[in-house]
Amino acid sequence: MKRRDIIKFFSAAPLTGGIIGAILPYGPVKAEPAPPKEKRDLIKELGLRTFINAAGTYTTMTASLMHEEVLDAINSSAKEFIMLDEVHDKVGEKIAALCKCESAMVTSGCWSALVLGTAGVLTGMDEKKIAMLPNVESLEKNEVIVQKGHNHDYIHALTNTGIKPVEVESAEDLQKAIGSKTALMYFLNESAPHGKIMHEEWIAVAKKNNIPTIIDIAADVPPVENLWKYTQIGFDLVCVSGGKAIRGPQSAGLLLGKKEHIAASRLNGPPRGGNIGRGMKVNKEEMFGMYAALDKFVHLDHEKEWKMWEDRIAVIENAAKKVKGVTTEVIVPPIANHTPALKISWDVNQVKISRKDLQDKLRKGTPSIEVMGSEDNIINITVFMLKPGQEKIVAGRINEELMKASV
Ligand SMILES: *Cc1c(COP(=O)(O)O)cnc(C)c1O
Repeated sequence: MKRRDIIKFFSAAPLTGGIIGAILPYGPVKAEPAPPKEKRDLIKELGLRTFINAAGTYTTMTASLMHEEVLDAINSSAKEFIMLDEVHDKVGEKIAALCKCESAMVTSGCWSALVLGTAGVLTGMDEKKIAMLPNVESLEKNEVIVQKGHNHDYIHALTNTGIKPVEVESAEDLQKAIGSKTALMYFLNESAPHGKIMHEEWIAVAKKNNIPTIIDIAADVPPVENLWKYTQIGFDLVCVSGGKAIRGPQSAGLLLGKKEHIAASRLNGPPRGGNIGRGMKVNKEEMFGMYAALDKFVHLDHEKEWKMWEDRIAVIENAAKKVKGVTTEVIVPPIANHTPALKISWDVNQVKISRKDLQDKLRKGTPSIEVMGSEDNIINITVFMLKPGQEKIVAGRINEELMKASV
């Protein structure tokens, strides 16, 4: 071939290494495929126990497993530098669209969404105030109103910012508590039944008095609609766990809501320093992973998922029920971990094993299985964290141990 012809040839033919290698004397040499590397198994190396999670999305158990797409998203972002604020902007925009709200940011768990959301409300865009937190005495507004039934554990996320919680019980209490120092009104969704004031009334009072509202719905998806329900009924900020049923990175969460508040919340954390959120860093990997997980979750066939959970429950229920003296009940918690769950209880005169011993036997068996328990003769099972097929193993092991303990 003449040089001209070679050029013509290349513009027409696909540029494969084979052709180049065959024609050009100094063309690229087709690399021999590298022998597959033996992957390092750190779990084995460190001697750690893995287990079938029939318990649920508990932090102690590392909560949830990420789908392949999520791991791919994490890996793809891990190999390049990108400006952190630019990832925040873009991923935030995409997440806001998925959750049908004005604005969003990825946080390090629902807990830090609560901290940063509160901090943003306290400081706005004022850098002096941001630098002051958690010393809020000199702030004009430094109180957060909370209902008595909602005022436990998670309030610590808010008091981290320095605020003083003001507890109320009745609607009259609420009216009296609102004053010039009120910065925010906080609502814990799972505790709604333990409070006297429900969402709509809480929001109405807040709006009338021009006070922002924040709600913790950490474990309250499914149903998927909850991702937009609470901003749509008027909460200014909504905090969600990323690593529970959504199956994003376990150390990620979502802060959803009003643009001005999200912007202020972002100023209270990295990449900026000298603020209360500096230790709640979320890098691009978690942001990409969170977005990919949410995208998958929102577009899932949720009815199909639900049916799959019911089928899994049935497999375990049928195996357990075969044992004389055992009773089962399928329960769906109305809020928080709203998925089908199975309660297995037994008559201790017919099945002579304590709940703790049964848990221990399941834990020490092969494969190891974790279940939750309540009273001395009750174990509780969820199936949404099982891998396909594991329900059969769980069913078999529970049946086996209950049988062994039967008199
Ligand atoms: C799990 C949970 C949290 C904490 O969420 P993380 O994502 O682990 O930070 C906060 N509030 C409630 C009600 C929860 O269930």
